[in-house]
Formats: sequence, C-alpha cells, structure tokens
Amino acid sequence: MASGDIAYETIIGLEVHAQLLTASKMFCGCSADYAAAPPNTHVCPVCMALPGALPVINRLAVEKTIRAGLALNCTIAGHTLFARKNYHYADLPKGYQISQYELPLCHSGWLDIEAEGAARRVGIARAHLEEDTGKLTHMGEAAGDTRLSAGRGAATLVDLNRAGIPLLEIVTEPDLRSPEEARAYLVKLQQILRYLGVSSGDMEKGAMRCEANVSIRPVGQTQFGTKVEVKNLNSFRSVKLALEYEVARQIAVLEAGGRVVQVTMGWDEEHGRTVVQRSKESADDYRYFPEPDLPPLEINPAWVAELRAALPELPDARAARFAAVYALDERDAALLAGERATADYFEATAAALGGTAPAARTAANWITGELFRLMKAAGVEIEQVQVGPAALADLLGRVERGEINANSGKRVLGQMFETGQPAGRIIDELGLAQVSDADALAAAVDAVLARYPDEVAKYRAGKESVLGWLMGQVMRETRGKGNPALVRALLAKALEG
Ligand SMILES: [Zn+2]
Repeated sequence: MASGDIAYETIIGLEVHAQLLTASKMFCGCSADYAAAPPNTHVCPVCMALPGALPVINRLAVEKTIRAGLALNCTIAGHTLFARKNYHYADLPKGYQISQYELPLCHSGWLDIEAEGAARRVGIARAHLEEDTGKLTHMGEAAGDTRLSAGRGAATLVDLNRAGIPLLEIVTEPDLRSPEEARAYLVKLQQILRYLGVSSGDMEKGAMRCEANVSIRPVGQTQFGTKVEVKNLNSFRSVKLALEYEVARQIAVLEAGGRVVQVTMGWDEEHGRTVVQRSKESADDYRYFPEPDLPPLEINPAWVAELRAALPELPDARAARFAAVYALDERDAALLAGERATADYFEATAAALGGTAPAARTAANWITGELFRLMKAAGVEIEQVQVGPAALADLLGRVERGEINANSGKRVLGQMFETGQPAGRIIDELGLAQVSDADALAAAVDAVLARYPDEVAKYRAGKESVLGWLMGQVMRETRGKGNPALVRALLAKALEG
C-alpha cells in the first residue's frame, strides 16, 4: 500500500468466534439447537445465571476444540483453565463470561494460505473455548413495530437461547499483510471447520463471526503501528471491504500529519465505512481470574492421540491427492476438495465410473462444469442435488460408450437434475439414443453430399474448412443423434471417394 512518498505495510490479525456443533450448551443440558425456537425457551438456571447454579463442562465441546486445534497445527495443552471475563452488558446476565485466558486449550499453531498468487503461513496464537452471550433485539425504532404497547417508545428485548452456546475462539498472530489475505484465511478456516464437522461456519447466520486488528507502518519499520479493532464483519466480502477502507483511512490520517488512535470500530455495511464504537479497553479491564466453579481441565494425551489419528483428510491434502492421483488441474482439484460433500460426491462418481484417472477427469469435468452450472442456476448445494453419484456415473458411462453424444448428455443431465429420473428413462423418452448404425449414417452422408455439390467441390479443391460445415449438416440430418466420430469418419471417406 503506497501513498505519497512513503510506502506502508498493512498488518492484520484476526479473531474468529465459531459456534460449535454440539447437542447441548457449553455448561448446561439445554439444547443448543435454538435457531427456530421461541425466545427464552432453551434456558435453565445455569444459562440464565440464577444464584447457586453450577456449570458442568460439555465434553463434546472440548473434543471439537481439540480437533480444530489439531487441524490448525496447534499444541494441545495437557492442563488448561477456565477463567471469568468480567464485564456488564444486557446480554450477559451473569456479569461475566466463562472463557479461557492464561492457559488456552490450544496454542502455537499455524495455517498455510495462498492469496494473490503468494503463499503465507499464518500463526495461530491460540484457540480456546468459551460461551456465547444472549441476543438483544432493539425495538420500537422501526415504524409499525407492534411488539411494544403504544406510547412505550424504544426498548430492548433479551433472548437467552444463545447464552451458553459453546464458542471456539481462534486468534491469529499479526501475520496477515493484506485484506485479500485476511479473506483467504477466513475462507480456508471455514472449510476446515466444516470438514471437521466442528462448526457450520455460516457467517450470515452468525455461526462464525470475525473481528480484525488492523494497523499500518512505513515499510522497513519493525515496530507495529497503533492498531484499530474492527467488528461486525459478517461476510467474507465485508471483511475485505472493511479492511480496505480502514487501511486507506489510517494512511490518510498519517499523511495528513495525524496519529491513529486506538479504538474499536464497527463496519457500517450500508454506507461502506468504519465508524467508531468506543475507545479500546485494555485486557486488564476484564479482571480475568480462574473460574472458581470449575476445576482445572486435565487433557489426557492418549485422548489427543486418538483424536489426531481420527482426523479426516483436510481440504489441502485432498486437493493435492486429486491433482496427483487423477492428474486434475490444480484449480479443479481445489474446487472439488473445498467442501467435503462435494469432494465425496466427486470421488464416489469417479469410483462408480471405474476409478481410473481418465474416469475421474471425466467426472471432474462434468461436475465442475455442467453440474455446478445447474446448481448455481437453481441455488442449491450438492447435498440437495437429486442426481446421486451412481446416477451421474451411469449417464457419463452412456456418453463414453457412445450411446448418446455429449450435447445430448448435457440435456439429459438437465432433466435428471430437475426430475431425479435415471438417465436411461430420459434417453428413451426424449428419443436421444445415438445412431451408431453405419448404414443409416452413410445414407445421411450421401444425402448431404448430394444436396450440396458446390461445397463438396470446394472441399475437393482444397478448402478443408468446409468439412466442419458438412459435418454439421449431417448431424442435423440425424437430428443430433449421429455418433460424431462415426459421422466424421464416414464423411471423410465419402469425400475422398
Ligand atoms: Zn441452560
């Protein structure tokens, strides 16, 4: 980033909060599946913070945090503590959040990313476990809001269904050097959390939230500049836009002879700008201390070893294997490996088609081409596609064997996608079976040559480009059902005779 005579370097660190996929909450037995529930129905004395209620640690949340930590190349602590993070806010009835401070469950890891053609290793300072807060809804601001009685003005409603949902907090080192790198990191982190089944990673639904620390410094300076925290980053797009805006803002402040002030900013999506929320409190303000209601958590190394051995193949490794084993190009391999369901679908299709490298490349071409196009147009994910891997392989086998040509194959796939019917039935119904009968095709060739003597003469006089046009005429004569390879051979033979 350059402006005027001074070139600036951008320094970004990210904090991500991901809701863990568990059946119950972090410290009580309330159901964590609260998305469709009426307000304050998934609550109990523990998550409502009634006096005397005692928390109990959710083992599955600990397990999922360790699995995420292992996938992020972290060291897993043998001895870890929960701590109270004290602050007052209406969505936090206890007046403190149970979190981890001095001894996080996972620390000192890394994640390799690639952005703008360059690789970078991003340090993971820590990944720890904590609980989510409740949710506030500010009422009365919108006209026609009927949830308040007349004349009451504005009010805030509190819903504690979300209070106590297990949260995984992942904090990077200040290793990112551009908004695009920040975006690439988040995309990859989301892929990994989804692969592990640790979190849905759905940013739009608030299941994965991001905050960024951003500063700039003149290139060559080793000391960090003053950092600004940016919150409310609820999509990959807003992360990139907010960071670009904030970097430009900080450069403008320095160029005008000013100083960057340490504050917390929010991203105003509507106006495309960062706005000051509050001046930054230091860590001391939270008065962290060890949670007296929970014992230290001792992690058995044998359990960690078990979890490590059971980790699935992760997106990068899977993409590398697709490229190496099936000779897919890197872009297709990454596209297919990015989501676990897509990668499974691709591998099942390739296996059903014979499992060879050429079979896998055929499956890859059809999935990344035609199938993705249909999915995008219909707005569906691979899990919702009615055409299973075996059904797709059946269709591709028919194309490979010349039962139908590739264009008909696309048409059939479109129908399979819409109706869920098998390829054979659709081919019969549409009368698309390819004509490979040499006598019938030879008759079509003869008819075309007889109809266009001028074009035949041009070809024989050396204008070879006419061949493609004649080929098209024969295909039309067969109503698109002629076996193209056979038609081409018969046509070439007839023209030479
Ligand atoms: Zn509860």
